[in-house]
Order: sequence, then structure tokens, then C-alpha cells
Amino acid sequence: MYDIIIIGAGPAGLTAALYALRANKNILIFEAKTYGGQILNASKIENYPGIENISGFDFATNLYKQVTNLGAVIKYETVLRVDENKNVTTNKDTYSAKSVIIATGSENRRLNIENESKYVGKGISYCATCDGNFFKNKTVAVVGGGDTALEDAIYLSDIASKVYLIHRREEFTASEALLSKLDEHSNIEIIKNSTISKLIGEEILSSVEIVCGDTTKVIDIDGLFIAVGQEPKNQIFSNILELDSLGYIKTIDGVRTNIKGIYVAGDTRVKELRQLTTAVSDGSIAATIAIREMNEK
Ligand code: NAP
Repeated sequence: MYDIIIIGAGPAGLTAALYALRANKNILIFEAKTYGGQILNASKIENYPGIENISGFDFATNLYKQVTNLGAVIKYETVLRVDENKNVTTNKDTYSAKSVIIATGSENRRLNIENESKYVGKGISYCATCDGNFFKNKTVAVVGGGDTALEDAIYLSDIASKVYLIHRREEFTASEALLSKLDEHSNIEIIKNSTISKLIGEEILSSVEIVCGDTTKVIDIDGLFIAVGQEPKNQIFSNILELDSLGYIKTIDGVRTNIKGIYVAGDTRVKELRQLTTAVSDGSIAATIAIREMNEK
């Protein structure tokens, strides 16, 4: 029996592990893909207090090394089920713990238009820092109007010859800091109040059809970066935990769920602000409360 099972090795999960290991607890971390979570996709982090500038990859790797140097064990297994008694079933086995911390983050939202899946890896990407380099001196488009879309457009403007930034509204929701940087990149062309209605190409994507009011036009592109936000992936917990209408886990006082001994940290819970700072904050609080409540028994 483990003291704490942590599901997810992103910033929230790894921070929970850091706090639990420093309290000498016996923990196990499950991760379905790779450590680091969404922050791996951030080309630059400039709003983490105390660190002026770091890449998402370096941040995640530093945190990973910090916890594995303390003895953290990460099992790369997919969690399929958690029950009220804190038994965690993966694709390989069932494990038991006194507490469970869910830190499963979120995944990229899709545009949900025809042929989107067909072109993934064939012109469509959800990660500019992972795939941007394939589009050196080419024409790309980024769709979205939040921080990720603007960061991606700015990042890609140094690689591609031309970047279209397509947003469905007049106003962006991205930060002022990013908005002011857009002007410094003359090869970014902003297309507002427009939605992508069709993906066009034979084997690989070659153009997109865009609708703006009554007008439809086609632009030729080599790559399309979709940056329209994230969605939680909490269906597997819905038999025991309360979710909101968007699928985020509801909490009591921040990180406690409706089941005693099961906590939630990071982007996957209902919260005001989904950022690296709040993810690591959640991880530290979840581990600290889990340890305190475990010791009270
Ligand atoms: P987001 O803030 O949720 O923005 C999603 C954007 O995609 C919005 O502009 C939204 O438009 C648009 N969108 C959603 N569904 C769409 C659809 N079907 N078709 C077209 N457009 C669609 O997501 P995000 O930019 O990934 O950011 C997520 C969180 O991470 C935010 O809290 C953000 O601040 C944070 N973040 C921070 C940094 C940083 O601090 N450096 C970097 C990246 C992300 P509408 O406005 O019309 O809904």
C-alpha cells in the first residue's frame, strides 16, 4: 500500500510528489504519456516568479530531475479507474494507496471540423514548439485568440516566412504583454472575426477555407497550428467525483474532492486561473493536506 498515488506527471503532479517525498512518504506516480504535461509546449515562460525566462522543456526537466533525484518512481501506465477506497486500476495492474492526488491536466481542444484528424501530422499540429521547425520559410496559420495562440504565432514568425493568426472574434483574450509583441513581427497577418470552415488538401493540408460574415476565402498554407484551448479528461473519474458542466473536477476548499482522501491539483479542477504558478501551488497544497489528513487517522 502506497501513502499517496499521484495521477499525472505535469507540474501539479510532480510538485505534489516533491512535497510528499520531502515528507518521507511512499509514493507512486502514474503518467500515460511523458512527464511535463502541457508546459512542455511552452516555448518561453516569463511569468514564473523568480525565474525571468525559461523554456517549458527546461522547466519540466528540472522539476522531473528534482523529484526523481529524491527517489520518485513514475510508472508509464494509463489509469483506467479509481474507486472510493483509493484503489487505482491501470492498463497493467491495480494499486492501493491511503490517498490519491489527481493531476491529469487537460488536453488540446480540437476545432472539430471535417478531416481534422486526417491531417494531424500532415499539416496540422497542436504544438508549435514541437513541430514549428518543420515549417522553416513556409506559410503557416495559427487559430485561436488566447495566450497560446499568440505565443505560437510569435514563435512561428521567427521560423516561417508568413504567419496568419486567425481568430473568431474582434478582441483577443491574450495578455496585453503578448498583444503588444505582435506588432514587432511584420510577417504576422491577423485575420479577425473569422472561422475555419474547411480543410483542403490531398494527402497533406494545402489550404483552409475561412468564413468572415458573408465572405468566404481560401488561403494557401503549409501548416495549421490549432491553439483553441484545453479540455479536461475526467470521464474516468465521473463515477465517483463531481464534475462541472465542462468536465472539470469540483472541489471543496481548493483541492479536496467529494471523496475523503482523494484530492485534485492543477488544470483539471474547477478554478479561476489555469497557469503554471497555480498548478504548482495546487500540487504543494494537495500533498500537504493529504499528508496531514493521513496522519490524523
Ligand atoms: P484559452 O485562453 O482558453 O483560449 C482559447 C482561444 O481559442 C480563445 O481565443 C477562444 O476564442 C478560441 N477558441 C476556442 N474554441 C474555438 C473554436 N472551436 N474555434 C475557434 N476558436 C476557438 O486557451 P489558451 O490560450 O491555450 O490558454 C489556456 C490557459 O493557459 C490560459 O489560462 C492562459 O492564460 C494560459 N497560458 C499562459 C501562458 C503564459 O502565461 N505564458 C501561455 C499559454 C497559455 P473565444 O475567446 O471566442 O472563446
